[in-house]
Amino acid sequence: MLAISIDVGGTLTKSAVVDEAGQALHELTEPTASTLPPMQVPDHVADLVQRLMAESGLALADLAGICVGLPGIVEHRLGLALSCPNLRNWEGLPLADLVTRRTGVTTWVERDANLAALGEAWIGAARGTGYSVCFTLGTGIGAGIILDGRLYRGSWGGAGEIGHITVVRDGPRCACGNRGCLEALASASAVAREAQAAAVRAPESLLWTLAGGERAAITADLVFRAALEGDATAMRVADTAVEYLGIGVATVINVFNLDMVVLAGGMAAAGSQVLDPVRAVVRQRARQPLAARSRVELGHLGGRAGVLGGARLVHLRAN
Ligand SMILES: [Zn+2]
Repeated sequence: MLAISIDVGGTLTKSAVVDEAGQALHELTEPTASTLPPMQVPDHVADLVQRLMAESGLALADLAGICVGLPGIVEHRLGLALSCPNLRNWEGLPLADLVTRRTGVTTWVERDANLAALGEAWIGAARGTGYSVCFTLGTGIGAGIILDGRLYRGSWGGAGEIGHITVVRDGPRCACGNRGCLEALASASAVAREAQAAAVRAPESLLWTLAGGERAAITADLVFRAALEGDATAMRVADTAVEYLGIGVATVINVFNLDMVVLAGGMAAAGSQVLDPVRAVVRQRARQPLAARSRVELGHLGGRAGVLGGARLVHLRAN
């Protein structure tokens, strides 16, 4: 049987037809319909399903189910997003039911970070481990928790908001409204924001030169590149952010006694620049022997962790 998985991100929607071994038979990436009126969202998803089926020559009978991943807080049993700050028009829609009715295929809705964790635990970095947390480092910081080989959702699906644990009492304002969240200090957008402020004060820096003297051109990606070249301004910003990230990772290791923490998402592309300092902070701050007996690794699935994890969810639910 095959699964259709649709990972709806803040800017891009990735979808795929995936078999039970994790092979994607067909994949699409397109801009997210973030401005569509809510009434049209279910039709939009159903159309995408039809397109995937037509382009890969599938019949309804080939499908085990559909999973839609959303970037927000999801009530998974009701199949809807309760809070989706980047996709307000997708909030509150009983999407699982509406898509099931339109396609005739059982549909599940899940929090995107949970799907990334499922994907990495299935055929990625955390394969073969029973206890892992996968951090998705991007515009925000998401996290999905796998305990005893199963996705841990909490009472109704809201578990895993590790990006919103407070790490600095009066820290920068977070997108969630709180101050000093891990996400406000260690996400790619936090790195960009801090670096923009720092570079303006350091016009002699390589960072400012690489950005062509343009504040908005400073992204997390550029900060890590400049840091690699030894630029002091970029290094200071990057070091601070990854130290906070390490504090978050050490915290989950203390709480859950994990086999592995996976660092995934766009900022994980900085590789050892993120991985090495996070490992050092874990050694320093997490309790022994918890720290020594948990591994911290980069994700293996890149930007496809969520879409592949959605297929895993379908295969698990359907069997
Ligand atoms: Zn927050």
